[in-house]
Amino acid sequence: MNTTIESLLGKIKELQERSSDLEFSQKDRDEALGQVHAYATEFLDAIHHTNAYSQAPSNPELMRLDGKKKDLNELLRIYKEEVARKGINPASGGHLGYIPGGGIYASALGDYLADVTNEFSGMHFASPGAAQMEDSVIDWLKDLFGFPGSAVGNLTSGGSIANLIALVAARDQHEIKGEKIMKSVIYLSAQAHHSIQKALRIIGLSDAILREVKLDGGFRMDPKSLAKLIRSDIEEGFHPFMVISAAGSTDTGAVDPMDSIGRICKNHGLWFHVDAAYGGFFILIDSKREMFKGIEMADSLVVDPHKGLFMPYGIGVVLVKDKKAVMQSHHYVANYMQDAVKEDEVVNAADVSPELTKHFRGLRAWLPLQYHGIEPFKACLEEKIMLTEYFRQRLIEMGFRVGPEPDLSVSYFYFPSGGDENQFNQDLLDLIHKDGRVFLSSTLIEGQFLIRIAILAFRTKLDTVNRALEMISQALEKLR
Ligand SMILES: *Cc1c(COP(=O)(O)O)cnc(C)c1O
Repeated sequence: MNTTIESLLGKIKELQERSSDLEFSQKDRDEALGQVHAYATEFLDAIHHTNAYSQAPSNPELMRLDGKKKDLNELLRIYKEEVARKGINPASGGHLGYIPGGGIYASALGDYLADVTNEFSGMHFASPGAAQMEDSVIDWLKDLFGFPGSAVGNLTSGGSIANLIALVAARDQHEIKGEKIMKSVIYLSAQAHHSIQKALRIIGLSDAILREVKLDGGFRMDPKSLAKLIRSDIEEGFHPFMVISAAGSTDTGAVDPMDSIGRICKNHGLWFHVDAAYGGFFILIDSKREMFKGIEMADSLVVDPHKGLFMPYGIGVVLVKDKKAVMQSHHYVANYMQDAVKEDEVVNAADVSPELTKHFRGLRAWLPLQYHGIEPFKACLEEKIMLTEYFRQRLIEMGFRVGPEPDLSVSYFYFPSGGDENQFNQDLLDLIHKDGRVFLSSTLIEGQFLIRIAILAFRTKLDTVNRALEMISQALEKLR
């Protein structure tokens, strides 16, 4: 089977022609970008009046891939009808469920450029600028949370992977493996996010002992109970090695007393992990800074810019003080990477994360922070705190019971209907979901059904809260 150069060239040229569609011409780019921009504009212009939630399911038939070429406008129409209009609308200020998202436009512009240039930010060697840009974002965060310059960090896809990286580092620093696992104790609150439990399972610590620490009336970890548990575990021959606390728990927004917990960890040589995925950025607000005192003692910390900095989904951060502990699990030099290992000192993203090739997430964080400066972010976070307070006061006026004074911008309420209260409040939430103007979610605390308020979307404004109150009041009327 001798292919002549000539026939090879003929075939290559033919394939070149057939694959040329993948490179947009300038005219194609202008046209396509125009269509995408037109839809984005339509979406954003309507965002303040669009429902935050629709129960309609999406149609798989319309999304099926058949390998054929299609018109962009047709594809955008499918996106609009089948994706953007169904389920929760996370770009809407009316998203007050779970932990709301954001989607600031400056990040979208960053993502556009990151995708067009396709920088490889995993290694300084490949893209010194992109890697440095990510490092600069991480350095800013180290400063913000009082971490030393020697700490390492990584921009992850979100808080779950960030928690995973932190917990692996804790495991490796304390050499929790083999038979030691069964005797090792991890302390956490019943309010810990489920990504923590998931991470512990993934990293082989499901056989470690988990102790739930008692909480105070505001759902914060009680340091006295923690200290007592640790002492009694040591006496009984167990091996306490880590405390996992929350700076802003998902369910109630509680900020654990990190100063006391940090000191207890120091005294006993335990790894101190702080999950600040939701709450961390409230440290930017003067009136809340004190609440975060002690966070600088953490050995590892997780914070989600796609929550508290209103960025689109796909960016979390982990900071870890002990560089060696992180590198032990993630640093690996393969033969085909030998050109890349010249500079020992610089830490590459790929050395502190399971990822090698990854999205250049730094730009979607760096661009908005530089373009806007920090002031509007601070004001927006403070606005969320005030709106939560306003929401609660108005609910009380309407006859609702609300949860304890929240540390941040998550709270809950229920109507004291008498009779089957859980059913009544479930029915109330069902009506709220059917309405859809504003989206709320629920939780169970000690068997009680509670409707949650989580105010974090940057588009949630006074108008939004008033709309929510009107909707809740109408739903309540229907049930009474
Ligand atoms: C959201 C959240 C997580 C998980 O983060 P993802 O970005 O959703 O992966 C972990 N912990 C807390 C406290 C959270 O609020």
